[in-house]
Amino acid sequence: MQVAVDHWSDGVPGHCVGGPVDITELSRGELAGRLADLGLPAFRAGQLWHWVYHRGVTGFEPMTTLARPLRAQLAGRFRIGRPEPALEQRSTDGTVKWLFRFADGSEAETVFIPETDRGTLCISSQVGCTLTCSFCRTGTQKLVRNLTAGEIVGQVLAASDALGAWPSGRPGRPITNIVLMGMGEPLYNLENVAAALRVITDNEGLSISKRRITLSTSGVVPEIERCGRETGVNLAVSLHAVTDEVRNVLVPINRKWPISVLMQACRDYPGLSNARRITFEYVMLDGINDGPADARALVRLLGGIPAKINLIPFNPWPGTRYRCSPAPVIARFAEIVMKAGYASPVRAPRGRDILAACGQLRSKSERQGRRRREPRAGTGVGVEIETVGS
Ligand code: SAH
Ligand code: SF4
Repeated sequence: MQVAVDHWSDGVPGHCVGGPVDITELSRGELAGRLADLGLPAFRAGQLWHWVYHRGVTGFEPMTTLARPLRAQLAGRFRIGRPEPALEQRSTDGTVKWLFRFADGSEAETVFIPETDRGTLCISSQVGCTLTCSFCRTGTQKLVRNLTAGEIVGQVLAASDALGAWPSGRPGRPITNIVLMGMGEPLYNLENVAAALRVITDNEGLSISKRRITLSTSGVVPEIERCGRETGVNLAVSLHAVTDEVRNVLVPINRKWPISVLMQACRDYPGLSNARRITFEYVMLDGINDGPADARALVRLLGGIPAKINLIPFNPWPGTRYRCSPAPVIARFAEIVMKAGYASPVRAPRGRDILAACGQLRSKSERQGRRRREPRAGTGVGVEIETVGS
């Protein structure tokens, strides 16, 4: 049975109604459904999935297990989406940062951080962020929208293209871990994030285990339980302060869901155990939250929660009122935390030789004279990227 293409609207911003459906917006079940509408058997969905997510093809021509007329038929109805790399920066230490541009022209940042035992891809969940954490440049960006599931998956696909990271390509895949720590608040876009994670974890495709995926939230308490139940990924919480007074200023969503309520949601996180701990992120801000008393209060606050602590040196950006804590202050804070049993909480900076600090791609892009509809601010990527000046 043939179904008129016009009936297929994928509801994706920037896609024409009736245009080709982007496969990356579909779950495996939905893809099978679309193919069934064309009278194609279920195993075709498996074949297509393998080509798209295991082999990394971007068109239908290379799909040699499908007969030529079928490839042509599929090419008329589907496309295999990728954001376009508007900018790419590679550090001598292997860190790569992209500014990916989506179909409607909006952009978000993605970062790859190679380490000896893993390769972590940091992806964005929104363009900008509706929240306004006072130390985060993403919060100053005017243009904000949710990324679609396909646009979230698309960052992994485009990064895999650039890194030659396809499962079929070679042993020792570069991307082993994923963190949702780029632009945006993933729990304000949980529907699309969860759909994207189902594609990313699918074991006949990209096959990245949910145990190797971490989602970072500023503390959207009502969605935390659902996040654990629906996605099963590791949770990271942007704590950044040990009193409501300070956290209200740094992470204003704290006025809605204060620290005590957030901590209870953490205790209740599905699947929490000593083997699956919550990571508490703590940005080191000079004179704001970095004293020894803060460190001791942090240890008390996390008592009884299977937890890891990630101390993040603050990435300054032009116009910010904050400074990063001096190295000895960070060391002292770390020592108190380590004495309480938390291991190596400060991570080494990466990507020093490229403009790898959050938001630095914007100024570079502007210097290159690229047109953009809205000025954009940088991501709050919480990975160990250090500023090299703007
Ligand atoms: N919105 C989510 C995830 C993205 S931000 C969240 O807030 O958790 C990822 C991490 O980077 C968060 O811990 C965030 O607080 C941190 N971050 C944002 N801006 C930063 C900056 N300028 N320097 C250091 N860390 C920053
Ligand atoms: Fe949004 Fe996270 Fe930045 Fe806060 S820290 S403004 S929640 S991206």
